[in-house]
Amino acid sequence: MIGKLEMASTKEDILKKYFGYESFRPNQAAIIDKVMAGEDCLVLMPTGGGKSICFQVPALLKPGLTVVISPLIALMKDQVEALKGNGVAAAYLNSSLSVQEQDQIMWQAKLGELKLLYIAPEKLFSGNTLSFFRELNVSLFAVDESHCISSWGHDFRPEYRQLNLIKQQFPGVPIIALTATADRVTRRDILKQLGIEGAETFVSSFDRPNLNLTVLPGRKRIEQIKRFIAKHERQPGIIYCLSRKATETVTASLNKEGIKAAYYHAGLRSELRSSVQEQFLRDDIQVIVATVAFGMGIDKSNVRWVIHYNLPSNVESFYQEIGRAGRDGEPADTALFYSYMDIITRQEMINNSDQQEVQKEVLHAKLDRMKQYAEADICRRRILLSYFNEAVDQDCGNCDVCRNPRTRFDGTIIAQKALSAITRTDQKIAMGMVIDILRGSRNRQVIQNGYDSLRTFGVGHDLKGEEWAEYIGQMLNSGVMDIAYDEAHSFKLNHFSKEVLRGERKVELVRYIPISERKAKEDTGVSDVKPKQEIIKDALFEKLRGLRKQLADRLSVPPYVVFSDATLSEMAQKRPLSEAQMKTVAGVGAEKFRRYGAAFIEEIVRFAKENTEPGTRIAKGLTYVETWELYQQGYSVKVIAEKRGLNPVTILSHLIKLKDDGHDVDLEALIDQQAYQKITQAAEELSIRKDEPLKPIFELLNEQYDYGQIKLALAVAEGKRA
Ligand code: ADP
Ligand code: ZN
Repeated sequence: MIGKLEMASTKEDILKKYFGYESFRPNQAAIIDKVMAGEDCLVLMPTGGGKSICFQVPALLKPGLTVVISPLIALMKDQVEALKGNGVAAAYLNSSLSVQEQDQIMWQAKLGELKLLYIAPEKLFSGNTLSFFRELNVSLFAVDESHCISSWGHDFRPEYRQLNLIKQQFPGVPIIALTATADRVTRRDILKQLGIEGAETFVSSFDRPNLNLTVLPGRKRIEQIKRFIAKHERQPGIIYCLSRKATETVTASLNKEGIKAAYYHAGLRSELRSSVQEQFLRDDIQVIVATVAFGMGIDKSNVRWVIHYNLPSNVESFYQEIGRAGRDGEPADTALFYSYMDIITRQEMINNSDQQEVQKEVLHAKLDRMKQYAEADICRRRILLSYFNEAVDQDCGNCDVCRNPRTRFDGTIIAQKALSAITRTDQKIAMGMVIDILRGSRNRQVIQNGYDSLRTFGVGHDLKGEEWAEYIGQMLNSGVMDIAYDEAHSFKLNHFSKEVLRGERKVELVRYIPISERKAKEDTGVSDVKPKQEIIKDALFEKLRGLRKQLADRLSVPPYVVFSDATLSEMAQKRPLSEAQMKTVAGVGAEKFRRYGAAFIEEIVRFAKENTEPGTRIAKGLTYVETWELYQQGYSVKVIAEKRGLNPVTILSHLIKLKDDGHDVDLEALIDQQAYQKITQAAEELSIRKDEPLKPIFELLNEQYDYGQIKLALAVAEGKRA
């Protein structure tokens, strides 16, 4: 474990060494510089944006201790495990630890053995913790989830109010406040409450381009979900439902299909809730079907999809909930089911709530924005980002509207047909019956009411039921008719309807594209048949995932603490066979390599041996591996060459390359001292270095030493110079 100050390291060195990343994301570097200069700052980044790096890198660059204040006790353990996994000395203090355990951690802090200490606010302000910290060399305070300090925020926590004490008691120590959600008012309030009004605020884009956005028609939801999950085999995902009951029934139907799903809502015993959550984190449960009670403090980076079974009440909640997918930056799919009934349900909930009238108005206005999103016929991401005051000058290409651009058409005749069915039934019928009449369905209710003798009966048989539902929904939304919530949702004619019926007004509709005809994300590639490379990659990814799960279970940590999905997928693509190659994979730092590198390389080698055709890049890589294995068993170059049926010169060049890649090869032991002297002298005379043409040396030495020996000598000399 590394606890010492990193002498003269740059922030880039730290990023690479501990976290295995090549470069900073936007704003991270500027924020770190600010903190290193001893100044306060406020950081706004979306979930998954990479806030932690902003205080973890300074923690490693600065002498002393960084104290991280976070209300999410459930998360601390995993965050600390992840840091330790990267070789960073970290610990946490909260009520889940015994008194002895807490004392021990205090001791470690006192002895300067820790770089980061996570603490819950109630712990920070209890007993003599604060005065204890004053005796330590605290170099930075990070206030995570800092919107909790503001009563304007959506998650106010009274304990957070006491955080104003930090600046008072540690005036010289910089504070970095971080949050994923804060409008302007909340932002100002955070600075004021923390007493850091002068702090610079860094606002990152809230765009999450890796999230695919889709709205699906709210019919046959279960069937659509099954199809959706079939395309996401074994990938973890969340389904959000409005009611507890719905979470249970949806779970039951998925379980029937053999899908590992469990439900989660506030009505469950807390032990059961944590056990479900834990199993999901550990990839033992694939699907969580939950109410909005689920998710706060879920730090699972490999959630690959989120479905909204019902319409959320506002855009903020929606964005936060879909934001739980794809935190590792890898592609993730989100789908929202929408039908006009969802709006009605939500409106009724607001109307029947015991909120004050003004508040109800706000809620209705927020619901309206959500509705606009669901009904959009322009790029959905533009709508979302403009909601968060972010200007966007391009369509995103990763939402259903971008993939299937909408077309408008004159829908007056369609509207007239529907309105006339409503007129001829005395405005007593709702959606289902209107469609039955238009499509000419002779069901019992139709017959009983004599609707089959209406002149409109069957005039709309040319459209499918789902098309009618879509168009009637659009008519409602644009005010072509009204709906009486208090009369079994029957449709009522209004002024607009009458004008349409009389032919005085046109109705424009947006063409409905049946799901089967929509361009799915998966189909945007050139052909349906995946190229061979892809299939093998998928299989290897699964193998690596299996290994990750094994290791994680052995250490009892969630799998993403070992490696993220992004890291595994890069590994599956690059197929690193050596330490140096492995370390080029994002997310593989020095400590991660030390712990897991060999196991993953072994898995890749095994896979490659079983699946590789001669001549491919991986086959070339494998030849090194075979030489390496024999070398490790102690065979001489000559014997290795014989065993492999290759030229000794080739084996030597393998060993040189292996050494280059960071393997422990003792090149010096392979060369005769006299040869070494002669060759290096010759090289110096001719000023030839490794990797330059060697023929002149070969000739100068009268062809006495072969190319293998020359190469070897130069490599050894190079190693000595370095
Ligand atoms: P937040 O706290 O903002 O939700 P995290 O700090 O957990 O986000 O970061 C989200 C993911 O992005 C993590 O897997 C993290 O390791 C990764 N990440 C952060 N910074 C970088 C970077 N510069 N390069 C690559 N990955 C990064
Ligand atoms: Zn788009």
